[in-house]
Amino acid sequence: MTTSELQDKIVLPRDSRYRQLRSTYTTVGSPAAVLLPENPAQVAAALRYARERNLPLSVRSGGHGLSGRATNDDGVVIDLSGMNRVDVIDRKARIVRVEAGARWAQVAQALTPYGLAISSGDHGNVGVGGLATGGGVGWLVRQYGLTIDHIRAAEVVLADGRVVRADADNEPDLLWAVRGAGSGVGVVVAFEIEALELRDVGIAQLAVGLDREGRALRRWADYMASAPRELSTAVTLVPHGRSAVASITAVVAGASERRLRAAVEPLLAIGTGVLDEHAQIAPYAALVSTAHLHPNVGQQPVTTTNGLLTAMTDDDAAAIMSVVTGPGQPLIQMRSLGGAVNDVPADATAYAHRHHGVLVIGTMFPPRGGARLDAVWEPLSGRVDGAYIGFESRPDESAFKRIYPDATGDRVREVWSRYDPDGIFQSLWQPSQAKRR
Ligand SMILES: Cc1cc2nc3c(=O)[nH]c(=O)nc-3n(C[C@H](O)[C@H](O)[C@H](O)COP(=O)(O)OP(=O)(O)OC[C@H]3O[C@@H](n4cnc5c(N)ncnc54)[C@H](O)[C@@H]3O)c2cc1C
Repeated sequence: MTTSELQDKIVLPRDSRYRQLRSTYTTVGSPAAVLLPENPAQVAAALRYARERNLPLSVRSGGHGLSGRATNDDGVVIDLSGMNRVDVIDRKARIVRVEAGARWAQVAQALTPYGLAISSGDHGNVGVGGLATGGGVGWLVRQYGLTIDHIRAAEVVLADGRVVRADADNEPDLLWAVRGAGSGVGVVVAFEIEALELRDVGIAQLAVGLDREGRALRRWADYMASAPRELSTAVTLVPHGRSAVASITAVVAGASERRLRAAVEPLLAIGTGVLDEHAQIAPYAALVSTAHLHPNVGQQPVTTTNGLLTAMTDDDAAAIMSVVTGPGQPLIQMRSLGGAVNDVPADATAYAHRHHGVLVIGTMFPPRGGARLDAVWEPLSGRVDGAYIGFESRPDESAFKRIYPDATGDRVREVWSRYDPDGIFQSLWQPSQAKRR
C-alpha cells in the first residue's frame, strides 16, 4: 500500500480533524501526522509511512495512557479509533473479538444483549488496546482475574508489516508478551477474549471515616484477603480534617441483594463511622458507562505511579495514611487484587505479580508534578514490591524493573527484540517530548 492509499487516513496539522486527534487524556501533542487506519493492511502502511520518514512513532487506542506517549511532537501517531468492532464470535464458548480502538464502554454495551461481560477497568473511555496489552484491573478483578488472563488470541501487525495471529499454538511467545507487555511487540489490532456470563452486578458506594494510624485500612485489606471472590473493591482516600475519609466502591459479580449486603457488611465496620451508604443492582455496563465517552484533548495532565503489596501490615497502613494526610496532597487509591488474579502462574503472562493483595496508586495534580509525587511517595517506595504498567506515568528503566521483574523482564526484552529488532515500538519507554499543559 502506498501513501496515496492512506490518503484520507492521514491527518496533518492543517486538517480540521487534527485538533481532536493531536492529544491524549494527559498530554497535548503536536505530531507531524495522525494516521487513521481501518484494517491491518492500512496499519502496515502506516508503519511504513513512519519508518520511511524516520519519524518517532506512537501507537494509540483510546488515548488514556497515563504516560501520554500515545502522542508525540513531530512524529507519527497511529490512531486505531477507526478499528473498534466488537463481535461475539462464539456465544457458547463466550469468545468475543474486540478491536483495539474500541472503548471499554462500547465493549460493555455491545455484550449486554448477550448476557456477557469482560472485566476491564473502572472507566468507559479507556481504550481496549492500551489496557489489554498491560493488564486490566477491573470491577470484577477478584472473580475474573485481569483482562489479559482471558485473552485467547491476538492479531498483531509486526514492525516489518507482517500480520500474524498469536494464540496457544501459533506464536505462543508473542501471545505471552501481548498479555502484559504488548506495547513493545507491534500494533495489536484485535484480541479474542473469553467473556464472563454476567448481566447485573451489585454496587455499593460507601464513605467511611478513617483513623490516622491506618487501622481501618488494615481492616479493609484483611477483610479483602478472605472475602468472597465475587467482591472487588476500590478505595479512594480523601484527606478530611486531621485524618481522611475512604470512598469505597464495592462491586459484587451477580445480582443478589442478599449477597451484596453480606459482602459489604464487614466494610461498614472497618472505620470510625459510616458517613454515607448507597447500594443498588445495576447492569454491568452501568459501571463502565458510555456516559464516560469523551474526546481526549490533554485535559488531565496528572502524574501517576503505583506499587503492589502482598498483604498490608500495620506499618504499611500507617505509611499510606501519612502520605494521605501529609502536606503533599496526592490522590491515593487502593484496589483489591488477589482472588482469580493469583490463580495464574507468575510466568504464564508478562504480568508477573501473582501473589499480591493490594494495588496502591498515587496521583499528583498540576501544578505539582513528578518530583513532588516522588517526594510524597517516598514512605511507600520501600514497602511496595512491583508495579503495574497501567498506572505509571513515567515508564523508564527503573519502572521497567518494577513492572517486569527478574526473569519476566529478561523474557520481555528477548521477545520484544525478536519481534521488533529495530525497537520502533519502544517509544513508550523513551522520554516524551510532548507537553503536559
Ligand atoms: C481515567 C483512567 C482510569 C483508568 N482506570 C483503569 C482501571 O480501572 N484499571 C486498569 O487496569 N487501568 C486503568 N487505567 C489505565 C489504563 O488501562 C492504561 O492507561 C491504558 O494504557 C489505557 O489504554 P488506552 O488504549 O486508552 O491508551 P493509549 O494512550 O491509547 O495507549 C497507551 C499505550 O499503550 C500502548 N498501546 C496502545 N494501544 C496499543 C495497541 N493496539 N497495540 C500495542 N500497544 C498499544 C502504546 O504504547 C501507548 O502509548 C486508567 C487510566 C485512566 C486515565
